Amino acid sequence: MMTEDLEYPIDGKGVFVVMKLCQHFFKKPWDKLSTLDYDTDKDSILETFNLTLYSPNLLYAENLTNENSSNNNFDRFMDTFSQQLEEKDEANKEPSFVMFVLMSHGLVNGGVLLSTPESEKNRVDPCDCEPHTGTGECYVRYISTHIMKKVCDVYGHLSIPKIFVIQTCRGDERGVILANGVDTRISRLNGVAPSELELFILNTSDCFLFRPCLEGHGSWAGVEGSKFGSFFIKHFCQALKQLRESANHSAENRKKLSGVRGSKDCPHPFERLLSLANEENMEGGWLVNICQRTTELVTNWLIHEIPESAKTEPTDDKQQPHFSSSLAYKVSFLKILKTQWEEKDQYLAEWYDKMQGTGRSTSAQSF
Ligand SMILES: [Zn+2]
Repeated sequence: MMTEDLEYPIDGKGVFVVMKLCQHFFKKPWDKLSTLDYDTDKDSILETFNLTLYSPNLLYAENLTNENSSNNNFDRFMDTFSQQLEEKDEANKEPSFVMFVLMSHGLVNGGVLLSTPESEKNRVDPCDCEPHTGTGECYVRYISTHIMKKVCDVYGHLSIPKIFVIQTCRGDERGVILANGVDTRISRLNGVAPSELELFILNTSDCFLFRPCLEGHGSWAGVEGSKFGSFFIKHFCQALKQLRESANHSAENRKKLSGVRGSKDCPHPFERLLSLANEENMEGGWLVNICQRTTELVTNWLIHEIPESAKTEPTDDKQQPHFSSSLAYKVSFLKILKTQWEEKDQYLAEWYDKMQGTGRSTSAQSF
C-alpha cells in the first residue's frame, strides 16, 4: 500500500558541492573557448541556499584540472570530496541530501571540460583522444561516470536524494526562437524518437539531474566581467527565490486564517483544511515544479526580456532546460500495462519477468 513515507525524510542538513571550472586556456583548435562569468552563478547559488564559502556543509572548488601533480586535480577531488566534507563537519556524516552544482564548458554525451592549469599566457595543447577517454591526461570527464556514479558510490548506503545541476553546453547546435514565431525543430531528433543520449537515462537511483539545454545544443552564459552568469543558473535561482517568497506569503496568509480559531475539541474547519494542505503542492515546490518554472523563466527571458547588452550571436537562441530523474522511478508504466495486456502481449510479460529475475507466474493475479 502507498504510504506517505515514500517521500524522502529531509530531517537534517544536506551537503553542497559547488564546482566552477572557468579557466580554459587551450591552443588551437580549442582556442576560441570564452572565459565565462560563472562567478556570478556561484554567488547566486550561495545566496539562494544561504551559504558562504565558510559554511561547514559546503565544499567549493574551482578550476580543477587533469594534472596529476596539481593540488587541483579533478579525479582526486572526486575521490576525496566526502572526506573533505566530513572533516569540515563531523556531525553531518549522514546528510539528508546532496546537491552538486557544476559550471563549465561541455560537449555531447555528458562531457564536461576540465580547466587548464595556468593563465592565458601558458596555453596548453588540447587532448587529441577521439572519442575522449575521460581519464588521465584527457581534458574531458563525463557526468554519469565521473560525477554521478562517484557521488552515488559515496552515499550509496544512505537512501537520500542526490541533485545535480550541471551548467554546460551539450553540443553546438543552435535554433533561433522568435516572438510569435513557430518554434524551430530540434534538428538532432529529426522526427524520430529521442535517442538514449537525448533522454540521458540515469542508471543510478535517487538522482535528479537538471541541465540547461537539450542534448546536442548550446546554452548561454555571459562572458567574464559581464556580471550576468548563465541564463540557466540565473533563472534556476530566480525560481527558487520566487518559491521562498510565495511560501512566506502563504505562511502569512495561513497565520491570518488560523487566527479564526475554534475550540481545542472542535477545530475550526479552516485549521483542519490548513493541516491537510500540502505545502509543496501549494507552493509548487517539488523538484519538477522548479524545473518547469526555470524553463518558463529562461524562455520568457529569451523572447521578451533579454537586454541588448546581453545578446550574443546569433541572438535569441533557443535554450530549453532539461531534466532527467530517477527519483520518480518508483513505478513503471510497464507494470501498469502488464496488468491490462498480459494475456495478449506475451513479450511484455516475459520481458518484465526477466527484469524481475523471476520465473513466469502461473497466476495472472500474483505479481
Ligand atoms: Zn580527451
